Parts: sequence; structure tokens; C-alpha cells
Amino acid sequence: MIALVRPECPNPEALAAENYKDPINKAALQESTSGKCMYCESKFEGTSYPHVEHIKPKATFPELEFSWDNLGFCCQICNTNKNNKYDDSMPFINPYDENPKEHLVFLGHFLFPKHGSDRGEYTIDKLQLNRAGLVERRKEKLDSLNIMIKAAFRTANESLRNQAIEEVKKEAEKDKEYSAMAESALLAQRIL
Ligand SMILES: [Zn+2]
Repeated sequence: MIALVRPECPNPEALAAENYKDPINKAALQESTSGKCMYCESKFEGTSYPHVEHIKPKATFPELEFSWDNLGFCCQICNTNKNNKYDDSMPFINPYDENPKEHLVFLGHFLFPKHGSDRGEYTIDKLQLNRAGLVERRKEKLDSLNIMIKAAFRTANESLRNQAIEEVKKEAEKDKEYSAMAESALLAQRIL
């Protein structure tokens, strides 16, 4: 999970007409996450169907069903895991309102609550952010990142080596899948 900037709502008329799935608004939400799930940072592929997410569930907070600030964009699995769970005394980490780095930290391809954050722990647990399929995909990315790092640092030519290191750094940019994990790995290796 990485910090996100909420854009202006491009089509408020749709929300006023009680349509939260309007394609223009949905596209703006998708762009704000760089086409990734707002919680697990998985990219959407042809096989997975992205959902307009109600950060506070519409079943419990019907007054927020058509509120722009309550909408996000997430994958089917995070959406299903979150379902109607929401505890006002223990809100899920909201990447639009706060920096997830305050609560979550990657060690390798596993996500942990930072400094024992209760909200971080609750978010990881309920959204299952260390679920098997996700951990496997993150491990694949970390493995390929490590191959890139090895190749870069074994390049004898300094200019080529620097170029290769710049390529490695790009893997932690916000449009990349699992960028928070990549950033942690590169910081640990003092590449960032
Ligand atoms: Zn997800």
C-alpha cells in the first residue's frame, strides 16, 4: 500500500444521480492508483475485475454510498475480504488520507505492522495482505529485482552500471506493481 492523491471528482452529476459506478469517475479512481488495487498494489489484468470500493462500507454507512471521498479502487479479493467489515475505533489504513508507511512495513515479500501498529495489524489481518497468491507474486517480483540488482552491480563499465541501477530504482516508482515492497528492498540495500 502506498500513499495516493485523490483527484477532483470529474463527474459529480453521476454521484448526485446515485451512480457510483460511472465510468468517468471510475477511470479517475483507476488513474489515481496507477491501475492498481489501492490496498494490495496488484495490477489489474484481463482476468481480474476491479471494483469501486466503499472505504466505509455502504451497508453500514449508507449516507456515504455516493460520497466521492469514500470511494476507491480495489481488486476483487481485497474487496471480498473487506466486505462489510469496518470498525470506527480501528479504521483500515486509508492510503488517500494518510501515509501507509506510518503503519506498514515490508520485510522481504511479507508485510508487517510498523512499530506494532494496531491498525496496521488489523488491516493486514482482515484484508489478508499476506495471502498465499499475493505473497507468491510479490516473491516473483522480489526475485527478479534481485536478479536486476546482481546484474547491475556486476557490470564493469561504470556508466552502464549506473544506467542499470537507475532501471532498478524505477521498480519502486508508484506506477509499478508492489512498489512499496520494492522500495523497502532497495532501501535495505542502500540503492535508494
Ligand atoms: Zn487488492
